[in-house]
Amino acid sequence: MQIKLDKNTEYLISKLVSAGFSAHAVGGAVRDSLLGREVSDFDIASSALPEETKKVFSSQSVIETGIKHGTVTVVLDHKPYEITTYRVESQYSDSRHPDSVSFVRCLNEDLARRDFTVNALAFSPQDGLIDLFGGAEDIKNRIIRAVGDPAKRFSEDALRILRAIRFASVLGFSIEENTSNALLALSETLSSVSPERILTELKKTLCGENSQAVVNNYLPVLEQVLTVSGSPKSLSLLPPDFAMRLTCLCGKGVIESLSRLRADNETKRRCKLLVESKPIPSTLPALKQYISSLGEENSLLVASYRRALFGEDNEKQTEKLLSSGECLFLKDLAVKGFDLISLGIKGKDIGKVLNALLNSVLLGEVENEKEKLIELVKNAVL
Ligand code: ATP
Ligand code: MG
Repeated sequence: MQIKLDKNTEYLISKLVSAGFSAHAVGGAVRDSLLGREVSDFDIASSALPEETKKVFSSQSVIETGIKHGTVTVVLDHKPYEITTYRVESQYSDSRHPDSVSFVRCLNEDLARRDFTVNALAFSPQDGLIDLFGGAEDIKNRIIRAVGDPAKRFSEDALRILRAIRFASVLGFSIEENTSNALLALSETLSSVSPERILTELKKTLCGENSQAVVNNYLPVLEQVLTVSGSPKSLSLLPPDFAMRLTCLCGKGVIESLSRLRADNETKRRCKLLVESKPIPSTLPALKQYISSLGEENSLLVASYRRALFGEDNEKQTEKLLSSGECLFLKDLAVKGFDLISLGIKGKDIGKVLNALLNSVLLGEVENEKEKLIELVKNAVL
């Protein structure tokens, strides 16, 4: 197994080492690098205290992102690199927040407080791979395993329960038996985790490559944080889209779930649209009316959802119609408001007449041609 650090990480580590500190790439970067996955953020752990790190990089732009927790961020090539002092966390009285964080000078202690063996690896060009808990073997066997006693680790911080299933889903790993039993047994403690953190984890979990297996195996965990009354077994029929998958899983419970999670308005809007969607009509005029009332983007979303779950619109009629250039919306109508004004139509009637004309076009009662539409208006209104 090979690890390739990016140049900036190597530079930061070598600067810290030259200044007499110990420094390593840690966490997700080492894990993803060993897996051959793209590495998105390189975290560095170091024996240097935040003030010492700041001094080492005094000629660089340094941001004090979390001095209290030991983190400073160095920006190189417009990318943020987090350097965190080796630390341990003492006593968790609320299943989520450590009562205090203390800095230590030794990497081993820092690695021991990390959640899973695959996340407790460190690497530096000087020292190579440091693997105290069998993380490399677990990566090879595709296993998520808690560092130390799983029940203790999940009791310290309940967020780790969701992180375990998230990594299982995203990486396509299985969860080691003791770790799995402990997280199931402690799933009720998820009530101590903030809705924002739960939402972030769920987004990744439901869209991961192994999400169907995770939902099958860990539904009781998800039921602690969601109101589930949908079709958990159908998840993998859908594209990896959070709103679609959440709606499929929760069914009518999706609205309640979204407010429990304090979800963003756009996710709420999309889920509501999906859960309230009606069957897609199969006759052409009715389909045109359906698309027209929903709008382009919404129709595509609903069509993709209902096609996957219920086999509706299986000829991709919605997409075909939308790309056909046919008149489906007011903007496509050959007659505009000012055409009606010149016929003497005023105020709210303009909108009403335009909508009536659009509907006639959708139903195929009249062609979308200016003269024909104006003729129709003259006969009907004037
Ligand atoms: P990704 O960035 O892909 O989400 P990651 O493993 O880098 O995955 P981060 O949340 O960035 O996850 O955390 C970085 C590292 O910090 C983890 O790899 C792990 O070692 C440690 N860590 C993060 N959260 C926890 C936690 N709740 N308990 C224990 N260790 C944690
Ligand atoms: Mg990370």
